Formats: sequence, C-alpha cells, structure tokens
Amino acid sequence: MEKKKLLKYWKNNIIRDERILKVLEKVPRENFILEEHKDYAYVDEPLPILKGQTISQPTTVAFMTQALEPKKGQRILEIGAGSGYQAAILSEIVGTKGKIITVERIYELFEYAKDKLKDYSNVEVILGDGSKGYEKESPYDRIIVTAAAPNVPDPLFDQLKENGILLIPVGGGFFGQKMLRVKKIKGKKEAENLGSFIFVPLIGEFGFK
Ligand code: SAH
Repeated sequence: MEKKKLLKYWKNNIIRDERILKVLEKVPRENFILEEHKDYAYVDEPLPILKGQTISQPTTVAFMTQALEPKKGQRILEIGAGSGYQAAILSEIVGTKGKIITVERIYELFEYAKDKLKDYSNVEVILGDGSKGYEKESPYDRIIVTAAAPNVPDPLFDQLKENGILLIPVGGGFFGQKMLRVKKIKGKKEAENLGSFIFVPLIGEFGFK
C-alpha cells in the first residue's frame, strides 16, 4: 500500500485530530525500518527489526497515537523504543517545549533507536527495564507501553500525573492483549478497553519474567 492510501484510510476511519494526521504524514517510516524491508514501509503490517522484535503495524501506531491524546508541550514516557518510530511521532506532536523519554531493554535496539532519533532533540533514549518506568524524569503527562504486560505495572501508574493517561496492552503473552487506556482520576485508576491487539511481551521486573 502507498502512504497516501494509508493516510486516507486513517483520516476516514481512525484519526479525528488533523495535527496527528499531519505528523503521521511527515515522519518517514521507511527511515526507521531495516534496509531490506524498505519496499514494505507502507504495507499495513508489523515488520521485524532486530533481536526478534517488531516495529508495530502502521495502523496500530496511528491508533495508539490518537488514543494517547498527546498534546504540545507534554512530557511523555514510552516503554519499548524498538525502532524509534513511535517516539519520533510523539516528538513532533509535543514539540520543542515537550519531551519524550523512551526506554528500551535490548542494547542493540537501544543503539538503533538512538541513531534513528539523533535529529529529534526533544527525545531521550534510555537503556533499561521500562516495566519500572523511569522515575528520574517523572511525573509524566502520558505513558505509552508498546509491549504486552501481564497487568498495569504499579511504578508506571505511580509515575503518571493526576489526569494523565497510560496506554498499555495487557494480558496473554503471545496470544493477544486488550489495549487499556488508564486515566488517573483523583489518584485512582479509570480504565477503558479499546480492543484487541498483539504485541511482543514486556519483559522485566513488573512485566513477564
Ligand atoms: N515502539 C516501537 C515498537 C517496539 S516493539 C516502535 O515504534 O518501533 C516492543 C519493544 O519493547 C521491543 O524493542 C522490546 O525489546 C521492548 N521491551 C520489552 N520489554 C521491555 C522493558 N521491560 N523495558 C523496555 N523495553 C522493553
């Protein structure tokens, strides 16, 4: 599929926010995938990156970006930097007054994402176990987890601001997860199920072992 067709599909079915659509149009997915997959950059499928991990399907990235309700100037934590593509999109949305912290546990992918994101001055890539969040830069307006967790990790919810949004696929290892959008309202969780997805597992202290 070409990029134009995907953008049209998103505009008609998924994305209500014109600014998000502009950013999806602007950020070149082809720059975040492996050279040998370049021809498939706008096929609506996940693609393998390094170490058995995947860059999410374009429509999943579009859906999650919209569901997160990111705004200019916000501070956002991403768990699972992978290729860096999702972080690049969020970087464009929050702008220079905002900040994206993205955590990756696999060294090769940490290096890969850092390289791909080197021109995005408001993004910091961190090597570590993101199931614990990243306390040093907390609290966050938004937290997005791009790997599947057994449940909502307590440290992530703790590092979320009041009225903040945490987006996380939860449950079932490799067998599919439900996408939860968790809001922190008066310190308590208010969760909505946004539907079924399949992600690689979140591996760590507050993830799968
Ligand atoms: N957001 C990425 C997709 C990432 S795939 C993109 O736009 O391309 C999920 C990533 O989560 C993988 O790279 C995997 O290594 C990473 N991951 C899994 N468990 C993690 C953990 N506990 N902390 C940080 N990263 C983790």
